[in-house]
Amino acid sequence: MRLPHIETTRVVIIGAGNVGPTTAFALMVQGIASEIVLIDIDKKKCAGEVLDLTHGISFVKPVRIWAGDYSDCKHADVVFICAGAKQKPGQSRLGLLKPNTKIVSEIVKKIVKNITRHTKKAIILVATNPLDVMTYVALKVSGLPPYQVFGTGTNLDSSRFRWLLAERFGLAATSMHAFLIGEHGDSSVPVFSHANIMGKNITELPEYNKAAAEEAYKKTKNAAYDIISRKGATYYAIALSVAEIIRAILYDENHVLLTSSLLTGQYGLRNVCLSLPSIVGRTGIKKIIEIDLAPDELEKLRKSAKVIQEEIKKVKL
Ligand code: NAD
Repeated sequence: MRLPHIETTRVVIIGAGNVGPTTAFALMVQGIASEIVLIDIDKKKCAGEVLDLTHGISFVKPVRIWAGDYSDCKHADVVFICAGAKQKPGQSRLGLLKPNTKIVSEIVKKIVKNITRHTKKAIILVATNPLDVMTYVALKVSGLPPYQVFGTGTNLDSSRFRWLLAERFGLAATSMHAFLIGEHGDSSVPVFSHANIMGKNITELPEYNKAAAEEAYKKTKNAAYDIISRKGATYYAIALSVAEIIRAILYDENHVLLTSSLLTGQYGLRNVCLSLPSIVGRTGIKKIIEIDLAPDELEKLRKSAKVIQEEIKKVKL
């Protein structure tokens, strides 16, 4: 019997450390992709992670998972980069600039060799830190258009922030509308002027407490340091954040997410990658939304852009 041709949705994950396999798990449990490929220079660990994941396939929607190589990128819809050095306890994300520039550049060259020879427009999504600089590196090395190469940004930070604020107001995190823009790192900007519950700004609510709201941001900013000091790495929440972004791409959802991409004049900023609310679909970043910011938020965003621009200057491609 001749079987019909089945359109697949393939996600290739480069990096089988903590973040890569956890992301594969999140994709698999939610049935987001029909093919998941893991690649890592540590082939033994990669093979082990794949075995562990495949042993759960009978519990979830049909999916093929294998340890692959760069030739698998040729049929990819999304190539997700999470390979490279991770923060040591107390180390800032920016401290990873040198080793990870080299790793991300090498990886992107290999990806591009494979995806550009084929018709599918694969999206390159970056999570390796320092995220905004690595997104810029991936974009420049790839030579692809800015909408096709972007980073996971402050989508995770925004989830942390929403949960912390929601706890204060006794709400579900999904009912709390709040987000961070700018660097995925120490200069991120909480947008209190747009933090709301069904359109009502949190500052107008009787339960609002300025010190508590600021504490929620402080905890958000320090979340990775806190987790890394306790367990060495963060991976569950980033995996869920990445799964949300990949679903938005594969299903052409036009979901507004906090991803990091090249700015082209928004708020007068250009030639820097940072997070702003962005419409994400099958072609990648369809639009960056320029919302009204309070004067102090705009000032902080400019400072954040400067931090990233200074780091970009140190990069030798
Ligand atoms: P990890 O050390 O557990 O895994 C990194 C993996 O990359 C290792 O398995 C290593 O063998 C592999 N690797 C190194 N060089 C490679 C290369 N040239 N080609 C292929 N594979 C290579 O680290 P992790 O905890 O998984 O974190 C990975 C990265 O993601 C770090 O930079 C970390 O800071 C970042 N991260 C980002 C976010 C975010 O929100 N953007 C969240 C968590 C972690």
